[in-house]
Amino acid sequence: MVKTFEKTAVNKVVRAAKRASYDRGEVYDILDSGMVCHIGFSVEEQTFVIPTIYVRFENRIYIHGANKSRMLAMLQKGITPCVTVTHLDGLVLARSAFHHSMNYRSVVLFGKATFIEDKEEKIKAMELITEQLLKGRWKEVRQPTEKEIEITTILAIEIESASAKIRKGGPVDEKEDYKLPIWAGHIPLHQHPLKIIADEHSAELEVPESVKSYMASKPN
Ligand SMILES: Cc1cc2nc3c(=O)[nH]c(=O)nc-3n(C[C@H](O)[C@H](O)[C@H](O)COP(=O)(O)OP(=O)(O)OC[C@H]3O[C@@H](n4cnc5c(N)ncnc54)[C@H](O)[C@@H]3O)c2cc1C
Repeated sequence: MVKTFEKTAVNKVVRAAKRASYDRGEVYDILDSGMVCHIGFSVEEQTFVIPTIYVRFENRIYIHGANKSRMLAMLQKGITPCVTVTHLDGLVLARSAFHHSMNYRSVVLFGKATFIEDKEEKIKAMELITEQLLKGRWKEVRQPTEKEIEITTILAIEIESASAKIRKGGPVDEKEDYKLPIWAGHIPLHQHPLKIIADEHSAELEVPESVKSYMASKPN
């Protein structure tokens, strides 16, 4: 597989193109550090953008949901959705209101969805999605029943085209504004967990390894 996604009329970043990357590794890294994507698709004259859980596996992302989901039903009709993932990395505070910005890593990707019929692949996708949520969790929980597998739709979106856009660092102000006595800089942001809360049926149970490792791996 080629190392970069081909630049086409659809995925070529036009604005602030210096922040763009088409590198497959960089796109995959951004996808792998997230678990919520937004899926945009149009039905006749109306466009919808729906947030949902995903996981990347090889060159595809898996999404899942109830069989009755309109989004999943529409994607199976063959329209190419536009999928985005965004990580907010910081607030960029410039000297002027105009140059305020954000630091981010984002991906926009396109690809057709395929309905996963094969039971083994369906279960594998469920495992990957659960593991993306919390590494090690799949082995700790009750496995899906036949009924649960049956009422769940899994779609694979093969990544045909993608771009990443990354903004890092401090503000970029107008030259004449640097002499103004206005504080400027940036505030890095990082998602981190607060104290865990056991549900009322788990008070007597030991915290599982997956949760312990997750908490240990995150800065306080
Ligand atoms: C957290 C965050 C905040 C932002 N805030 C603003 C804002 O306030 N105002 C603003 O104008 N822009 C903002 N952006 C940038 C915004 O996502 C667009 O890149 C920008 O608005 C240009 O849009 P366009 O349609 O002209 O893009 P074009 O450059 O014309 O887009 C062409 C193609 O480039 C790709 N592309 C575009 N944007 C992205 C992206 N972010 N990531 C990956 N691929 C991309 C897509 O494939 C798209 O089809 C923000 C981005 C993020 C992640």
